[in-house]
Amino acid sequence: MVDGQGRAIRYLRVSVTDRCNLRCRYCMPESGVDWVPHGQVLTYEQMARLVGLCAGLGVEKVRLTGGEPLVRRGLSALVRMVKETPGIRQVCLTTNGVLLPEQLPALLEAGLDGVNLSLDTLDRGQYAALTRRDELPRALAGLEAALAAPGLTVKLNCVPLADNEDQWVPLATLARDRDLAVRFIELMPIGLGRGLPGRSEAQVLARLEAAFGPLRPLEGPPGGPARYGTFPGFRGRVGFISAMTHPFCAACDRVRLTASGFLKTCLQYQTGVDLRALLEAGAGDSALRAAILEAVRQKPACHHFGGAPAPGDEGHTMNQIGG
Ligand code: SAM
Ligand code: SF4
Repeated sequence: MVDGQGRAIRYLRVSVTDRCNLRCRYCMPESGVDWVPHGQVLTYEQMARLVGLCAGLGVEKVRLTGGEPLVRRGLSALVRMVKETPGIRQVCLTTNGVLLPEQLPALLEAGLDGVNLSLDTLDRGQYAALTRRDELPRALAGLEAALAAPGLTVKLNCVPLADNEDQWVPLATLARDRDLAVRFIELMPIGLGRGLPGRSEAQVLARLEAAFGPLRPLEGPPGGPARYGTFPGFRGRVGFISAMTHPFCAACDRVRLTASGFLKTCLQYQTGVDLRALLEAGAGDSALRAAILEAVRQKPACHHFGGAPAPGDEGHTMNQIGG
């Protein structure tokens, strides 16, 4: 499927839950969370049906996210259904890693291709302050488990903040001896990210180059927003996803399905279509397909991060959207 700007949509992010076992300060409040009622969360079967329709329209890659996808029971069943969908070449997971050690074997067995693990610091006290939970040891065990899994693509995602500046070099160092991509993702002004002091790609790069020498740019994998490089003596890569300072909207190939079945066509806007309402009204495949195509046709051209708030801006927090 092609949007109104001529961009082909090949990538679907599916949020399987808005629940999470952490409370990252830029993503969720400590308390007073407005949970999506259980009855409004799509079943795995409904998600798999919508994935199948999107695959029929050209989606090739699916990423399961959340909230924390591993807090939803039996996720490997969804991995298997998505992996067996004709047209889907890759199914990946974005996770905080805390529950990965116990769940990875079943996920691999179901056909999981890749894990992006979100980790903003290697310092236990800082991790507890940032996530409001003392779970660094389990998150690190999750990272080790993923790195030990043969054939699994592993990437580590860090959001650079004023609070974790001293951790950028230690985190990037993880890519020195391992086949790992460590990526720095600029904080976006969505949900609780608004008003927090994020740091830019240029600020991260300056620190990394002071520690490791000049970054040698690498050809990135086609389609993705990350730009990669490596440092002298590194086995792995360092990447940057910089929606604020290097917008990549012109090459955007993705849409998002929220846990409550809203097909969201741009991170910053509310635009999209409520597919759950259609499912509940008994819509057939052709009606669902038509709704998906029309929402994609209206996908906004670009975000306006950094500009003044505007009507239609996304009001949800990132755990409700899926990142
Ligand atoms: N719980 C899983 C995790 O943390 O990986 C998956 C969901 S989480 C919402 C997905 C990603 O969004 C995480 O890497 C997180 O760091 C990132 N994220 C959350 N809020 C953000 C914001 N305001 N700007 C940039 N990234 C954000
Ligand atoms: Fe949970 Fe991920 Fe949000 Fe952190 S970033 S609170 S781990 S959903």
